[in-house]
Amino acid sequence: MPFCPKCKCEYRVGFTECADCGVGLVDTLPPEPQPGDLDRVTFVPLRSYPSRIHAEMVQEALSNEGIPAIIRGSEIFGTGTGLVEAVPPHMTLCVPEDRLEEAGLIADGIVDPL
Ligand SMILES: [Zn+2]
Repeated sequence: MPFCPKCKCEYRVGFTECADCGVGLVDTLPPEPQPGDLDRVTFVPLRSYPSRIHAEMVQEALSNEGIPAIIRGSEIFGTGTGLVEAVPPHMTLCVPEDRLEEAGLIADGIVDPL
């Protein structure tokens, strides 16, 4: 059966384009991301902390809630503006994009962000 790769509608054989999206149909849909498959998860910055110890406290609390979190050093994230800001080294805690709001509520209850 052909499927639309965008809206995932199933079409009868003979259709080649999705009527809603205008994209070509495919025979099989790409596999859905599996929960827990971290390679497929987009991690976004949640909060920055003045030290790794703070970040690890929050990381542990998040993992207790089933939210995976990773800690990145300040050197990885720029400001996004191309400007280099003179900031002291700090640790940025990153969580999956779709858990950002939930993680923020948990994080702010534990340690004040930088
Ligand atoms: Zn479609």
